[in-house]
Amino acid sequence: MSEQINPVTFDAERVRADFPILNQEVNGHPLVYLDNAATTQKPRAVIQAIVDYYEHDNSNVHRGAHALADRATEKFEGARVKVANFINAPQARQVIWTRGTTEGINLVASSWGRSNLKAGDRILVSAMEHHSNIVPWQLIAEEKGASVEPVPVLEDGSIDLDAFAAMLDERVRLVACGHVSNALGTINPVQDVVRMAHAVGALALIDGAQAVGHWAVDVQALDCDFYVFSSHKLFGPTGLGVLYGKESLLDAMPPYQGGGEMIESVSFAGTTFNQLPYKFEAGTPDIAGVIGLGAAVDYLQSMDRAGAAVHEAALLSYAEERAKATPGIRIVGTAQQKTSVMSFLLEGAHPNDVGLLLDQQGVAVRTGNHCAQPIMEQFGISGTVRASFSFYNTRADVDRLFEALDKARQFLV
Ligand code: PMP
Repeated sequence: MSEQINPVTFDAERVRADFPILNQEVNGHPLVYLDNAATTQKPRAVIQAIVDYYEHDNSNVHRGAHALADRATEKFEGARVKVANFINAPQARQVIWTRGTTEGINLVASSWGRSNLKAGDRILVSAMEHHSNIVPWQLIAEEKGASVEPVPVLEDGSIDLDAFAAMLDERVRLVACGHVSNALGTINPVQDVVRMAHAVGALALIDGAQAVGHWAVDVQALDCDFYVFSSHKLFGPTGLGVLYGKESLLDAMPPYQGGGEMIESVSFAGTTFNQLPYKFEAGTPDIAGVIGLGAAVDYLQSMDRAGAAVHEAALLSYAEERAKATPGIRIVGTAQQKTSVMSFLLEGAHPNDVGLLLDQQGVAVRTGNHCAQPIMEQFGISGTVRASFSFYNTRADVDRLFEALDKARQFLV
C-alpha cells in the first residue's frame, strides 16, 4: 500500500533464490508462477523448519512427559506468540489454530452463530466474497431463521459503501467482509466496514486470506471482532490457519468441536472446558504446520515487507498497463485500491483454454470462478483468467505472461 513506499531496498531476484520450487522447468520452459492467490510457495526456511521438527523434535504437544514433548510444545506455542505479534493481537491466547480460513469462518458461524443468532437477525456479506465467507453463514442462518444479504459491489469491483450504510440497522448482527478479493484484487475499506458495523451494534469478521501475504495487518488498528487467514497463502504449510478474535467474544463462545485438549475435566456428570485458545483446539493439532508457519512469519519479518509491497504494486500496474495496451484483453476488477491480482478475459477465448495454453508455455495462472460465483454472475461471466503476484515475481515474469498470451491468442482467436 502506498504509505509503505520504500522502492530502493527490495531485491526480488535475491528473494527468489529462497524459494527452491521456482527454479524448475515446466513443459520445457522456466516456470513462471502466477497463482499466488491460490497458494504461495514456501521459502527454504519453512521447509527446513518442518524437516528439523520431524528429524529432532517430533512429539505430541502439551503432554510434557519427556524432553521431545517439551521441545515440541515450546516450538508450537512459540509460533503462536510469533503469529500474535505478526498481526498485533494483544495476547497469544487470542490466536486459535484452525485448518484454514474456511474452518475459521465455520468456527465463528457455528459457535458464535449458534449461540447468538435468532429468527429475523441479518448477516451482511459483500457480494464479492469467497464461497467460504458466504456458505457457512447461509448454513447457520437457515438453522436460525436469520438471513444472509449481499452488500452490493460497484462496476469497478469496489464495495458500495452508500448501499452498505443504507442496509445497516439494529437487526444486523454480523458483517463479514474480505480484506482483499481473491477474484478481483480489490482492497476493501475494512476499517470503515468495521466502524459502520459497530455503529449499529453488529460484529465484524474480516477474511484476511488475501491480505496477510502482502502487508502488515494490525487487528487492533482494524478493531475487527474476528480476523481469519490461511497459512498456505502466507508462505507457510497447507492445512493450517488462524482465527483471531476479541478475547471477551472468544471467552463467551461455546466450543466448536469436542475431544481431547479442549477440556478441563471430563465426567459423565458434566464436562468443563479448557481456557483459550485450547477450548477451540480439540485433538492433536498440525504441530509441524504450526512450526512451519512460525518460520514463515520469521522469514517475512526478516525481509523488507514495505519494499515488497511496493514491488508488488509496481508489478500489478506494469501488468495492467500491458493488458490495456493489448487489444482484446478485458480486465475484470478495476477498483482504485487493488493488490496483486489481475483477473482478465481474452476476447473470444474461454478462460480454461487460455490457462491450458499458458501452462504449456510454463506460465501457471488460475482460471474459473475463483470460488466467487456471485460476483462473476454480477459481471455476467462464468470466470476469468487470474494472474496473481507475490514479491518473488519479477517484470520478466509479466513479460513472459504477455508473450505466452500472444501465442495463445494465435491458437484461440
Ligand atoms: N477467502 C479468500 C478471500 C480466499 O482467497 C480463500 C482461498 N482461495 C479462502 C477464503 C479459503 O481459504 P482456505 O481454502 O485456505 O480455507
